Amino acid sequence: MFIFAGFIVLAIRTFSVLILGISDNFGIPGLSGSAGHIYDILTDYAATVVFLCMVIAAVRRLVFKPARYAVPATYGKGHPADAIFLLALIALMMVTDSFFAAAHAAVRTQEGFAVEPLAFLSLAWAFKKTLLSTSLPTIWNLRLGACLLHASAFYFLMCYRPFGIQFHVITSIFNVYFAKLERGTVKPVRWGVGDQHLDQVQSFGVKKFEDFTWKHMLDFYSCADCGRCSDNCPANTVGRPLSPRFITIKGRDYSFQHYPVFGRSNGSMPLVGGIYSEDEIWSCTTCGACEEECPLLVEYIDKIVDLRRGMIDDGNVPQSLQKPLKALESRGNPYGKMAKKRADWATAKEFQETCAVKILDGKNGNGRADTLYFVDSITSYDDRMQSIGRATANILDHVGEEFGILGAVEKDSGHEVRRFGEETLFMALREHNTGAIKASGAKRIVTNDPHAYNALKHDYEDIPPVEHISQVISREVKAGKIKFHPVQSEKNVYTYHDPCYLGRHNQIYEDPRQVLDAIPGLKRVEMSRCRDRSFCCGGGGLMLFYEPKEDQRMGVVRVKMAAEAGANVIVAACPFCMVNIEDAIKVAGLEGKMTAIDLAELVDKQIVRDSRTAM
Ligand code: SF4
Ligand code: SF4
Repeated sequence: MFIFAGFIVLAIRTFSVLILGISDNFGIPGLSGSAGHIYDILTDYAATVVFLCMVIAAVRRLVFKPARYAVPATYGKGHPADAIFLLALIALMMVTDSFFAAAHAAVRTQEGFAVEPLAFLSLAWAFKKTLLSTSLPTIWNLRLGACLLHASAFYFLMCYRPFGIQFHVITSIFNVYFAKLERGTVKPVRWGVGDQHLDQVQSFGVKKFEDFTWKHMLDFYSCADCGRCSDNCPANTVGRPLSPRFITIKGRDYSFQHYPVFGRSNGSMPLVGGIYSEDEIWSCTTCGACEEECPLLVEYIDKIVDLRRGMIDDGNVPQSLQKPLKALESRGNPYGKMAKKRADWATAKEFQETCAVKILDGKNGNGRADTLYFVDSITSYDDRMQSIGRATANILDHVGEEFGILGAVEKDSGHEVRRFGEETLFMALREHNTGAIKASGAKRIVTNDPHAYNALKHDYEDIPPVEHISQVISREVKAGKIKFHPVQSEKNVYTYHDPCYLGRHNQIYEDPRQVLDAIPGLKRVEMSRCRDRSFCCGGGGLMLFYEPKEDQRMGVVRVKMAAEAGANVIVAACPFCMVNIEDAIKVAGLEGKMTAIDLAELVDKQIVRDSRTAM
């Protein structure tokens, strides 16, 4: 921030120094008198601050070396010499700028003109002190030397920029302007080609460098190599072979090598198997932490999805994903279970006696309802997660919602299918579900699954509006329709884990917290990484079937964060988070000391049932 602000302040002065080189009496229009003096003071301090920042940055690069600057051997080589050279060049510009200001003031003083004082304790102020006893001709020469050196450094930097990391100073302006604004979305297979014309696209995804969009190439040039993305990437944290920073650096190095400024392109090569490894591309959970952290809005998810599309198009699918993808194609769920079993959790006799869930499959005789509860695969089929389905149904029933589920005609939302690059399969699932949703006659959709929520909200079109159950509960709590019993054990300390597809991708941070805070006696603490900095628990959907190489599980890192925060109950609002976290509690050896519960389950447990009559 200081460097950036310093550059802004110094930009005008740099041009004025260049013009002073050819016109000795040049003054910046509008900056004469006291305005000019205030500007001079500001620039003296700006040059000093930027110089000090360069020294600090060089010390960090050369002496302290924060871990995130390191370049693991698997990712190639870093560019420390380039970084140090640039720091030195900018430092030289700051020194010559300050020296020029000091010499200019010393000349004017010795010539008998009234000169405004230079900024106290600035570099210019210190240089002027050393020049007071120097002879006038020598100061003239030093002033000229400073001017020439400053101008040379400036012009050199301008010409050198496109050849290295400094290019980001120029490209990032455009990169930020053209950044994607819609969160939670995935770019189409080909911009400008509608889904109905995709059969005319000969090759899906990115296979060679030239397949990247111009925006993604601009991303490569705009990276400042700061390492924030990789520092916050959960895959990188747990030792998976993925560091988003190096997705960019390797792409940029490739473009410099294969498209030299002088000479011809030396042809392209496949990216996966060339500069990227298969495991690297499959290791991403699409959690969005890298994009949230990047100060220059470099995009990763779309690039990774496009690289996956390219691999899928070539039939290059990891062994462990082949079975669930086939099952999704044939049975509409990754577990290969029969469609007629999809609603078993809801139609079981004991449950129907307490909560009559309608089946909105458009068949005569089955009911109609304004609200459709879209259950999705994991809550429908996983024995443990069915409890979240029952809790969600109980809550909707409690608040007097007329609702139903699609039952056997529902298929997987396809959220992860799309993010794993299987666009054609996703389109088939979407087409089927869109038809089923429309046939149900529902006017709105509720789901307990953030992945389904994200898919229905961003990947589907022309369907009723969708809400996550946490939004519904929060609203009904505020309306007084939901009241809670106090928590049974006051010893429990709760913490809320933000699911990536509810938080970062859809900005729903407060509703679940407000629900928890409405439960009397519930003690809640925040983990060190929460809200937009939440740490992915391991990813959902097909990620559950993929076994990457890693040193430890993301979920284990997450439950340790909860323990460090002093919590012994982790509340999630996503069935996939529940799978990962409950598993991680066992792996971390915290069984008996820590538990996990879904928000809907907790609400269902704490709700005051007989308040319904009082409403
Ligand atoms: S989306 Fe998440 S897992 Fe993927 S590269 Fe970014 S931070 Fe890492
Ligand atoms: S956070 Fe952005 S600028 Fe920094 S290394 Fe990552 S992609 Fe580059």
